[in-house]
Amino acid sequence: MTQEELFKSLIAHAKEYGFIFQSSEIYDGLSAVYDYGQLGVELKNNIKRYWWDAMVRLNENIVGIDTAIFMHPKIWEASGHVGAFNDPLIDNKDSKKRYRADVLLEDHIAKLEEKATKEVEKGKKKFGDAFDEVQFRATNPNVLRNIAKANEVRERMNDTLNRNDLEAVRQLIIDCEIVCPISGSRNWTEVRQFNLMFSTQMGSVSEDANIIYLRPETAQGIFVNFLNVQKTGRMKIPFGIAQIGKAFRNEIVARQFIFRMREFEQMEMQFFVRPKEEIKWFEHWKETRLRWHKAMGLGDTKYRFHNHEKLAHYANAAADIEFEFPFGFKELEGIHSRTDFDLSQHQKFSGKKMQYFDPETNENYIPYVVETSVGLDRTFLAVYSSAYCEEKLENGEERVVLKLPAFLAPVKLAVLPLVKKDGLPEVARKIMDDLKMDFNCQYDEKDSIGKRYRRQDAIGTPFCITIDHQSLEDNAVTIRYRDTMEQERIPVANLRAIIEDKVSFRKIFEKI
Ligand code: ATP
Repeated sequence: MTQEELFKSLIAHAKEYGFIFQSSEIYDGLSAVYDYGQLGVELKNNIKRYWWDAMVRLNENIVGIDTAIFMHPKIWEASGHVGAFNDPLIDNKDSKKRYRADVLLEDHIAKLEEKATKEVEKGKKKFGDAFDEVQFRATNPNVLRNIAKANEVRERMNDTLNRNDLEAVRQLIIDCEIVCPISGSRNWTEVRQFNLMFSTQMGSVSEDANIIYLRPETAQGIFVNFLNVQKTGRMKIPFGIAQIGKAFRNEIVARQFIFRMREFEQMEMQFFVRPKEEIKWFEHWKETRLRWHKAMGLGDTKYRFHNHEKLAHYANAAADIEFEFPFGFKELEGIHSRTDFDLSQHQKFSGKKMQYFDPETNENYIPYVVETSVGLDRTFLAVYSSAYCEEKLENGEERVVLKLPAFLAPVKLAVLPLVKKDGLPEVARKIMDDLKMDFNCQYDEKDSIGKRYRRQDAIGTPFCITIDHQSLEDNAVTIRYRDTMEQERIPVANLRAIIEDKVSFRKIFEKI
């Protein structure tokens, strides 16, 4: 199965089992907006809890807040979003399709690089063991031509975008002979800047209505509350403020399922530090956040850093943690050293002092900020797509199983009486009523035991507890493990402790 087919199957599975639905589906859907179903919300809440506790509970100098989505419109002027939170877009006049100009160019660069790689692969096949890749890359005319072309396009793209010279961006698209993938034509409109913020009005009558924005990031709610939290929480630098919440962006190219949505959730933490100490903290948070991701156990090789060479004007260091999604390595989290830009801007625009008095140095200063910003939905996609597995069993049967990390699984255990009679359901109910105090459990007595196991495999339940006739006598049950399908007989009295150990957050926290 190709990665594309796999991706399609896992999207269909997410719908079939109540993880994710297209928003407004009965009205033919709303593009790039999704709803989480009964199991999706459980998995999402568990990821939230993992992040929140790792940040807020385990770090004594980090506190959490929950700020409003609506904020004073001046905040977005101060932050630079009104002026510069734009994507350059271009339309194809024949297909009427809209594209991000930078994405068209990046795809073109990727194609040129791919051509060079293919040439290298050909050389490898031809020369076998004697192949010297370094020399080949340095001398083969086809490789050299494609790489030089890719570099030239990249340089021109960065230059024209930095200068905001949109006519030159369009000219570059034309010079590269880029065609619309739908119409195949080069009949392009001019390039325009498109602001990604959604706006609405606040006020009861239209005359006095104020335009306000749906926040495109949660961070600004933290910046404008910096002094409130610092003073009321008696926080001393260095300290952090964390928040989980919705953000909205009118993305032009919305694709790849929940990877790029117009309404999504972020988990952000702003860490306030002394000036000149920000790079040390930037390195600290880069490593700490990578450990948080790896501790989930999705596979260490699925993560990599991408250090930004080209920095936003307010940043003096930036890196992404990228994850290997079914469609390749893409950004999962951003870690940015944002200097004192945001607090200084708010001081300027609000006229209120944003300074901190440092009792250790006896100085007043505007703190520097290191931010960690991870998408909740992208983390969900990382967890869910890594867990999805189509397996062929020894007996020739097939099963779809979600090998979710047990501590994140929506349902921790299923309680299954072997048959619907002979007093087994009563015993099963008793076990269920006890264990549901601690874990999210499902009770199921319908269909054969094999079918019930498959249903639980498909939603990622790590443990199935089966009650049989012998249970009436020895007060023991069979526990079946999802991934290995191994079964074990254990006393009912030990169930809680065994499961608790296996779904514990504590063990994961110890790895961070
Ligand atoms: P991208 O380059 O993919 O558009 P970004 O660099 O604009 O992302 P940030 O502004 O750094 O993203 O936002 C922080 C995090 O929020 C991202 O790492 C990502 O996980 C998440 N995020 C951003 N935009 C979206 C979106 N449209 N849908 C889902 N998650 C998003």
